[in-house]
Amino acid sequence: MEIRISGVSKYYYAEGKTIKALDDVNLTIPANHIFTLLGPSGSGKTTLLRCIVGLEMPDTGEIAIGDEVVWSKDKNISVPPEKRGLGMVFQTYAIWPHMNVFDNVAYPLQVRGVAKDEIARKVAETLRFVQLEGFERRPATKISGGQQQRVALARALVAAPKVILFDEPLSNLDAKLREETRKELRTFLGKLQITAVYVTHDRVEALALSDSIAVMRAGQIIETGTPKKIYFDADHRFVADFIGRANLVKATVRAEEGGHTIVDCGLGRIVCQQRAIPIGSEATLCLRPEFIRIVKGAAPVGSNLVNGKIESLVFVGEAYEAEIRVGNEQLLAKIDPDAQLAEGDAVSFTLDPSHCLLVAI
Ligand code: ADP
Ligand code: MG
Repeated sequence: MEIRISGVSKYYYAEGKTIKALDDVNLTIPANHIFTLLGPSGSGKTTLLRCIVGLEMPDTGEIAIGDEVVWSKDKNISVPPEKRGLGMVFQTYAIWPHMNVFDNVAYPLQVRGVAKDEIARKVAETLRFVQLEGFERRPATKISGGQQQRVALARALVAAPKVILFDEPLSNLDAKLREETRKELRTFLGKLQITAVYVTHDRVEALALSDSIAVMRAGQIIETGTPKKIYFDADHRFVADFIGRANLVKATVRAEEGGHTIVDCGLGRIVCQQRAIPIGSEATLCLRPEFIRIVKGAAPVGSNLVNGKIESLVFVGEAYEAEIRVGNEQLLAKIDPDAQLAEGDAVSFTLDPSHCLLVAI
C-alpha cells in the first residue's frame, strides 16, 4: 500500500520554546517497498513515523495510506492508530517480558476479539514464518536477543497489516547480532511483499535493507533515492557525507567538456562526473576512500593523476586506512593490507571521473 505525506509539519513546545520536529514534509512511499528514513538523531524520523502510525498529530498537512486519508488538518480527518491497519516494531520494550512467546504474538488478535482457534492458527503460521516454531511456551525473556526481535516482528505481522513500521529495531543488539538480524529481516521483508517503513540512524543498515532511502535533517527530507544513488550519486553534500565516509575537497567549477565537469581544487585539475553547476561557482568534490587507489612512488603528470605522501597508516583488519597528504589537502584512503607501503612513502593515484562526485557547497 502506498503512503502519501503532503505538507506535514509538526511542532513541539517544551520549556517555553517551539521545536519544529517536521518541517513541511512531502513524501510518497511506494507500495511494497522497503523504505528507510535515515538521518542523525533529532532529525525527526521517529516523529514522522509516529505521525504515520497515528500516535502523533501533525500541525499541518495530510497523510494517506492507500486510498484512505488517515489524517488531514484541512478536512478535519483523524483516523485512530488501531484503525489504520499498521504493524509496528519499536526499538525498546519490543516484547512483554511477563508473557511467553505465544501470548506476545497473540496479543494484537486477542484485543481485537478474534476467536481462539483462529488466534492459534494465525500465531502458529506467523511463528513459522519468523522461524520460531516450537518456542510458543518459552518465556519471552528466555530466548536470545535476535529471537526476541523476531517475536516483536511476529507480533507486528500477526494481524496482517497493510504496512509495517520499524523504529530502530536493531539498535539494542550487539554488532554481530545486529548484522545477522539485519540479514534475516531483509529476507523476511522480501518474502512479505508489503510496504515497510524503516527508521534508522545507521547508514550501513539503511544501505543493506532498503529499496529506497530518504535522508532527513532538521525535520526535512533532504534527498530520496535508491541506496546506490544516495551512496554514489548524491545531490547534496550533507547526504554524501552522512551516507558514508567521504573526503570533501573545496573546488571551483571551470568547464563542461565531453560529458564531464572539470574543476580546480587542492588536488589540481580534476575531471568529474557531469553536474549542472554554473562555471565559476564553488562546489565540493566528494571522494570515497575506497576509490582512492594508491600506487607506490611519484608519477609523471596525467589526467586526474595526483601525487602525495602517506602521512599515517592504521591497520583496521580488512584494510589499511591511510592519510595521504596532497599539498594542503589531507585525504583518507583505504588500501590493501598486503601493500608494501610505509609512512612517509611517496604515492600517486588516478581518480576515475565517475567516482569524482561534485555536490553543491
Ligand atoms: P529522531 O527520531 O530523528 O531522533 P525525533 O523525531 O525523536 O528525532 O525528534 C525530532 C525533534 O523533536 C528533536 O529535536 C526532539 O528533541 C524533538 N522532540 C521529539 N519528541 C518530543 C516531545 N515529545 N516533546 C518535545 N520535543 C520533542
Ligand atoms: Mg528516533
